[in-house]
Amino acid sequence: MSQTTKTWDARQLPAVSDRHIDPHAYPNGVAFLDGQYLPMSQAKVSVLDWGFLHSDATYDTVHVWNGGFFRLDQHLDRFFAGLEKLRMTIPFDRDGVSEILHDCVALSGLRAAYVEMLCTRGASPTFSRDPRQAVNRFMAFAVPFGSVANTEQLQRGLRVAISDKVRIPPASVDPAIKNYHWLDLVRGLYDAYDRGAETALILDFNGNVAEGPGFNVFCVKDGKLSTPAIGVLPGITRRTVFDLCSEEGLAATATDVSVAALKAADEVFITSTAGGIMPVTEIDGAAIAGGKVGPVTSRLMTLYWQKHDDPAWSSPVRYP
Ligand SMILES: *Cc1c(COP(=O)(O)O)cnc(C)c1O
Repeated sequence: MSQTTKTWDARQLPAVSDRHIDPHAYPNGVAFLDGQYLPMSQAKVSVLDWGFLHSDATYDTVHVWNGGFFRLDQHLDRFFAGLEKLRMTIPFDRDGVSEILHDCVALSGLRAAYVEMLCTRGASPTFSRDPRQAVNRFMAFAVPFGSVANTEQLQRGLRVAISDKVRIPPASVDPAIKNYHWLDLVRGLYDAYDRGAETALILDFNGNVAEGPGFNVFCVKDGKLSTPAIGVLPGITRRTVFDLCSEEGLAATATDVSVAALKAADEVFITSTAGGIMPVTEIDGAAIAGGKVGPVTSRLMTLYWQKHDDPAWSSPVRYP
């Protein structure tokens, strides 16, 4: 189990003294690294870590809203499944990781937080190129809650561009392992910015819509919802939309979503732990739903945030 220094209080965390550190470059928050809780500005990894050198890492992000974790069990399930698929081991079990996440949030004092757990391949003590010799490194941190969409965008809907970049195919990297292979997504973002849009969707290897940088996408047509089935990270927020739809008696399926179908949809929204359900009202310069946030999207957004008060979906942070 963890050898964590639980007696630490956020107010006693060492002050940032290194003069080369720009205090504004780091958000408030607390990280867990090498058995210690640290301010974000002091949470550092080696440049020799394969997580940094080769994107050899997996992670998960859960949010805290009104002092409670939302669907933490599902995030832990996905994280531990990713570790197993990548043949990584960490010195903590589910309860151990959960305890560290609670501690990071509690020490930070944040009531609304973006909480990340991650594991890198690590580095080999002998600089071997054999990944089996690397010492895997677990870390976690809690920083203030952040959203893919800002308040204005949540109200008026996001302007999205569909890039022709193709998401790394599942035969190369299993998309169910949450990962940092983001060059396709980042290239898509630049395409979007070049075209005056705020964020991007990229394609799967068949030319259908896949996902965007850290979010899934849904469209609504004649009251029925669909979301891309292949080549996407199975998001917990995406799953939450399915759960809300079944409670509401709405039909929702994971299937191929063509670019044409997305552009012809009645409503479009994106989903992420960083922001929840977020409306899209413009795609490639053309209005969706007459440029207004549609009724199905609005209803799901309301239900999504209401579920944060439901003890079946939300667990209180163990603040001191
Ligand atoms: C995290 C992530 C999502 C959204 O998943 P949530 O569990 O809803 O946050 C979608 N796509 C990618 C590539 C992601 O990394």
